[in-house]
Amino acid sequence: MLMDKAPIYLDNNATTSCDPRVVEAMLPYFSSHFGNAASRTHLFGWQAEESVDLAREQVAALLGCDKQEIIFTSGATESDNLAIKGVFETYTAKGKHIITCVAEHSAVLDTCRHLEKLGAEVTYLPVNHDGLIDIAALEQAIRPDTILLAIMFANNETGVLQPIGEIGAIAKKHQVLFFTDATQAVGKIPVDVRKLGIDLLALSAHKMYGPKGVGALYIRRRDPRVKLVPQLHGGGHERGNRSGTLNVPGIVGLGKACQLCSDELQQDATRLSGLRDQLEHALLTVSDSQVNGANAPRLPQTTNLSFRQVDSQVMMMGFSAELAISSGSACSSATLEPSHVLRAMGLTDELALSSVRFGLGRFTTQAEIDRAIGIITQAVNKLRQAQALS
Ligand SMILES: *Cc1c(COP(=O)(O)O)cnc(C)c1O
Repeated sequence: MLMDKAPIYLDNNATTSCDPRVVEAMLPYFSSHFGNAASRTHLFGWQAEESVDLAREQVAALLGCDKQEIIFTSGATESDNLAIKGVFETYTAKGKHIITCVAEHSAVLDTCRHLEKLGAEVTYLPVNHDGLIDIAALEQAIRPDTILLAIMFANNETGVLQPIGEIGAIAKKHQVLFFTDATQAVGKIPVDVRKLGIDLLALSAHKMYGPKGVGALYIRRRDPRVKLVPQLHGGGHERGNRSGTLNVPGIVGLGKACQLCSDELQQDATRLSGLRDQLEHALLTVSDSQVNGANAPRLPQTTNLSFRQVDSQVMMMGFSAELAISSGSACSSATLEPSHVLRAMGLTDELALSSVRFGLGRFTTQAEIDRAIGIITQAVNKLRQAQALS
């Protein structure tokens, strides 16, 4: 099929394109600067180590922490696993109770389920209709043997922001560690680990205009100093927290991506929330539609909408060559199960299966939003007409 226009990408919560400035920063590290950052006996190694060090500073600057508190991983899935399993193994003498939330990413939920088989007790807090946990319920769930709160910053499907500062304060008050999967939040909204009382934080480069296969874990070093049992053993890289030769080009890309987000976060957030609001308002005029999480604080560039009686898979297949959106998490989009996040918010299976997620990004234009509104409106009306006839 001949297309007169390039397809529109509004699935930036699944992954973003790599910013050309990030690619440019990475390129030398595939060729002339190919050294192993752990090589201490020559220039090639020193050069690589220096670049990794700069990247560590760039990540730390975005989060408001020290560079010694950042370790590099293969992405947020690994960071989630390392944080939760690492805390569980370290603090097992204090207790085996973990508190998390039903709307977490599968990298957190499946890790918790795995630990349950190894003796962990896990409380899965519910969310309300807007996708928020109840802070009082969280505090009540804390027991003397609670070792970790694992609550995500921004939901990947709805963009709903949990009250992270309040959770951090409760964690401090009860001397429980607080880990947050901030993969969707970092680079999109201000995230300051000190102000918010966060002890561990996971992020991923490919959700913030960096490359795939690289991420980081922030591990607090004072008040309190957090210790983790490593999950990968070997050469003792990353202060013993994560062995394996560093992905130098990826790390350089992550650092550059963080620096760009530090510089452009406010400008991107303002522009994208404007476009997101336009998209929402226009699509809400299509009858029988709703925004999920509408009354909660949300990311500036995400919206999740339901169109009653419209099968979102059928709808998306209809325009898949023109417009890329999704029905939730990319990890589960193959299963066609209704979203666990939307179900937890009280949507029926049917309504959850009538929902789509839009993730705008740095390269989204006004013209694309205008076109997307037309495409969706037409598709919803067409499917409803076809149904009325059948
Ligand atoms: C994408 C995502 C992950 C997984 O990140 P990877 O780097 O792809 O492993 C984890 N948590 C959340 C909230 C995400 O959006």
